[in-house]
Formats: sequence, C-alpha cells, structure tokens
Amino acid sequence: TKKYILAKHFIGEPKLTDFKLVEEELPKLEEGEILCESLWLSVDPYMRKYTDFQMEGTVMPGGVVARIAESRDPEFPKGRYVAAYFGWRTRTIYNTREENKSIYPKPYLLPDFGDLPLSLGLGVLGMPGITANFGFLEVCEPQPGETVVVNGAAGAVGSIVGQIAKIVGCRVIGFAGSDAKVKWLKEKLRFDAAYNYKTTKISDALREAAPKGVDCFFDNVGGAFSNEVFRRMNTKGRVCVCGAIAGYNAGFENVLVPMVQPYILSKELKVQGFIVWNHASRWLQAIQENMRWINEGKIVSEETITEGFENAPKAFIGMLRGDNIGKAVVQI
Ligand code: NDP
Repeated sequence: TKKYILAKHFIGEPKLTDFKLVEEELPKLEEGEILCESLWLSVDPYMRKYTDFQMEGTVMPGGVVARIAESRDPEFPKGRYVAAYFGWRTRTIYNTREENKSIYPKPYLLPDFGDLPLSLGLGVLGMPGITANFGFLEVCEPQPGETVVVNGAAGAVGSIVGQIAKIVGCRVIGFAGSDAKVKWLKEKLRFDAAYNYKTTKISDALREAAPKGVDCFFDNVGGAFSNEVFRRMNTKGRVCVCGAIAGYNAGFENVLVPMVQPYILSKELKVQGFIVWNHASRWLQAIQENMRWINEGKIVSEETITEGFENAPKAFIGMLRGDNIGKAVVQI
C-alpha cells in the first residue's frame, strides 16, 4: 500500500518536495472492517488550505472512489464502490462501525451510475457537483431571467454552477484563466458570455455582458476579482461565497483589497458562505439530481485526468495553477 504524506507545510505554491511517498503494510481485516482499493483520487483546492492545520508527516487529505476488495460487513459488500475521504492512499482498511469524528462525510456506497464513469463520483456526482447544486440553488436562489456571474467557471464547481444556472433559465457570465477555457464555456457549455480574467478587465467585461447589473454571484475566487463584481450587483442581489482561491497560495493576509461593505449595504445584498461538508445528510439528493441532468443532456461534464498515483502531487499543483478543465482527478 502506498500513501502520500505532507512532508513539509506548503509555503506559497506547493512544491514536489513537500510531499513524500511512503509504503505501508496493512493488517488483516477484523469484524466490521472493509478493505478498499482506491481507483480514483481527487485533487481539490481545499487541500491547499486544510493542510496548514495538519501535522507534517500525516497523510494528505482527499476523497477517493474505491472498490471494496474484501469485506467483513454485509452492508458494504465486496465488489461495490464507495466514495470516501481516505486521503492520498492506494488501499485503506475502514471500520464501518467507527464513529465519524472528522469534518468529512462517512464513506458511502455509490449509487448506480449506469453507463457513467465512476470517476464522476469525485466531480459532478460528488463533492464539487453537490457544492454547485446546493450552493447555487439554495444560497443564490436564482430566478429565471436573472444574470449570474461565476468565476473559476471552467473548474469542477464553476462549470456545474454555470450549467445549472442555464437549466433554471438564467443568463450566465463566466470567468476563467485561459482562452481555451473561455471557448469551451461558450461553445460546449453554452454560457452566454465568458472572459479570460487574465487578459480582460473585469469591470469592462461586466459593463459589456451585464449592462443591467448582476443578480447572483457565485464566488470561487475572492479578492480583487470579487470586489469588481460586488460593484456591479443589483439591489437585493445574492452572493454565494464558496471559495477564496485567490488567497490559497498567496496567503489571505497578503490579499489587500478595497472595502465591499458599501455595496453590500447600499444594494441590500445577501452574502452567505457555504460549506458542503455541513450538508452530508443530503448529498445523495444532489447526486441524483445532477445525474438526471447529465442523462437528459443538460449538464456536460469534463475531467482532466492524470495517470498514476505517483503523479498526484503534480496533478494537485497543476490544478492550483489552472491546468485543469472541469474536474481534476488522478487515476490510480
Ligand atoms: P477547480 O476545478 O475550479 O480548480 C481550481 C481552479 O482555480 C484552477 O483551475 C484555476 O482556473 C483557478 N484559479 C487558481 N488560482 C486562481 C486565482 N488566483 N484567481 C482565480 N482563479 C484561480 O476547483 P474546484 O471547482 O474544486 O473549486 C473551486 C472553488 O470552490 C475553490 O475556491 C474551492 O475552495 C471552492 N470549493 C468550496 C467548497 C465549499 O464547500 N465551500 C466545496 C468545493 C470547492 P483558472 O484557469 O480559471 O485560473
């Protein structure tokens, strides 16, 4: 069994030398335990922040889709697939009777995906897709005809937010970090407008694409970018604060931006955070809804796949740099 540990806390952008690959022997299975072989590993932005609070030498956090290779719990039969927060490990023994003390949901059996790939259990049919579904629909409360802005738009969460916004009849404006991503958003995902935030002034883009202002803002980025959108929000607009990736590598204390409170105040904006872990009891509901939309052709899902467990650090660093279109996953 192989696992990646956090060898050194990240300073700025993570480096390959911050990770260490370690081998481990697993004991024999006890009653109530299952042995899971990870098939897919997820690399996500939250790992960049959460590792600040874990000890060096401990396993990298992360979600996997795994096959139950051996089971001593009839509720988790051999051969079935689970989604679980086992971390960056190739194989894991899990005691199904143990109380879950982590912030992450307990391992759960994947519902039948039909012909869809299992890896989607880490993307649109897993944590990021659930975030998009609940975060957008329940926090932004979009109405047909409204104008929606999403940043990180070509990523795992943003690409699904934009498509759900289209499903509910909104106009969608997306921002992403390359021309190829912008083209994909407009041509494949049918965004009404999309811009490369690295080469376009946000204020110019919004003046052009949202002349009547913005009603819903799904914010994955934070910082200076978000300020520009706050300035263009309509009265009673809703903002879902989902992520703040502009500060993950840079450090939150180093991102210095003008005040947004005057806009929140004068436009009576509703600004609400969202944490997907806090909605674990309802995850299956969002997975089923997203799956229905995929099967109806209303959601297109894309993945950027890195081959080989050894390459997980590269995949993670690349995702933070914006190398991925759609969900970044590692095939183990
Ligand atoms: P993505 O698939 O979107 O990958 C991260 C993307 O962020 C990169 O591809 C890159 O795309 C973009 N990015 C990196 N640095 C910057 C920057 N400085 N400014 C703007 N964009 C940047 O990841 P996810 O969809 O998994 O996550 C998106 C956001 O949602 C993150 O902030 C994450 O923390 C948050 N999140 C929050 C959850 C919650 O419960 N609150 C749950 C899941 C995710 P580009 O080329 O466009 O720069």
